[in-house]
Amino acid sequence: MPDSTYHAWPFFDDVHRALAHDIRDAAPGLALAADEPDVDIATRAAVRALGAGGWLRHVVPAAHGGARDRIDVRSLCLIREALAYRSGLADFAFAMQGLGTGAITEYGTDGQRARYLPAVLRGEAVAAFAVSERDAGSDIAAMQATSRSDGNGFVLNGEKMWISNAGIADHYVIVCRHPESGERGYAAFVLDAATPGLGISARMDMNAPHVLGTLMLDDCQVPASALIGSPGAGLRVALGTLDIFRATVGAAALGFARRALDEALAWCTSRRVFGQRLADMQLTQAKLADMALAVDAGALLVYRAAWLRDSGTARITREAAMAKLYATDSAQHVIDEAIQLLGARGVVAGSTVEKLSREVRALRIYEGTSEIQKIVIAGQVLAGYEAATAPGGGEAV
Ligand SMILES: Cc1cc2nc3c(=O)[nH]c(=O)nc-3n(C[C@H](O)[C@H](O)[C@H](O)COP(=O)(O)OP(=O)(O)OC[C@H]3O[C@@H](n4cnc5c(N)ncnc54)[C@H](O)[C@@H]3O)c2cc1C
Repeated sequence: MPDSTYHAWPFFDDVHRALAHDIRDAAPGLALAADEPDVDIATRAAVRALGAGGWLRHVVPAAHGGARDRIDVRSLCLIREALAYRSGLADFAFAMQGLGTGAITEYGTDGQRARYLPAVLRGEAVAAFAVSERDAGSDIAAMQATSRSDGNGFVLNGEKMWISNAGIADHYVIVCRHPESGERGYAAFVLDAATPGLGISARMDMNAPHVLGTLMLDDCQVPASALIGSPGAGLRVALGTLDIFRATVGAAALGFARRALDEALAWCTSRRVFGQRLADMQLTQAKLADMALAVDAGALLVYRAAWLRDSGTARITREAAMAKLYATDSAQHVIDEAIQLLGARGVVAGSTVEKLSREVRALRIYEGTSEIQKIVIAGQVLAGYEAATAPGGGEAV
């Protein structure tokens, strides 16, 4: 049973505590829905189960049937944590319904929200978010896919790589370069999967179950109503959407780390070596202490960022970057220590901790690599320092 003592922290209110309790009870069933060898079928089944259970109400605002007036990041984090504790695929299915509709919720028109959100909420439509390209990952501004106006709407051309849910999504939010809006102009669109000219050119097998592929845009004609936000604002739409969900990646990492810690605790309290329980050895205790510390520190950073955002702070760039960086890096270490404590059992293919080690790895890469988070944090810290020490700007050191 995962630790729930942190639910008493002041970041949460009673609605969150009730939600955390309910999702912890529901998570084993949701994980079961995602437990199917075919990753496409498993992802769709997980999305359906999440919709049927009402969990996707948390990725949609109340005006369209959702749980809260606006997306509540603490709720997303609590749900991701509980799902990741049981199943990386169930967590990923939940996360993508949010990431794939966040741009519509935050920047879309009422017509787009009414058209796409209800089916996503019910788990009847699968969402996707396509920004990355072969030569534009960390450096997303280097993207080459383009959009141009053609009188009735827009025409999109190019390629989008590493796209979660490619091939099974019912609609895609796609961000392209939009030269008509200037050299740094980008535009975001929402495209139905059946749009002529939109295709899947490749699928990738990942180290853990995850639907991933490459999208082709070949003279893809879309109506003006597909544009999200204004032409030219695509990068702001993409970055603003990522800003909401970045801390939730840290929450998923926490779920994996908590599971690894629980697996280690169960093993260390039962395994006997040299006439003692492993848990009675001080070297083991040092490892367990470091693992627990990493989990709590990660949770403090994740829920600080989520609470700040929910409390109305417009941008949580520094806090979300810290949460994602620390929680994902430290989760990988916690899981590796759990493997070490389990000895040979820890590296048996398919064992819980071995699966966790594969599931956690991509979290340090997607939605901004660890290195990019460090660059973001340093930029924020330096800007804060320079503002505070500029003549008339604050106190000198
Ligand atoms: C499982 C998974 C799911 C994904 N899903 C999606 C999705 O749904 N939609 C989408 O658009 N994309 C998705 N991505 C793509 C993801 O966002 C990119 O992989 C990520 O942004 C990194 O880009 P890249 O892989 O091209 O690596 P690169 O940007 O080429 O980076 C390679 C290495 O260089 C480092 N690096 C880059 N810049 C610097 C720098 N300035 N200083 C120091 N080091 C640097 C990076 O940190 C990294 O270690 C997904 C990726 C994965 C693995």
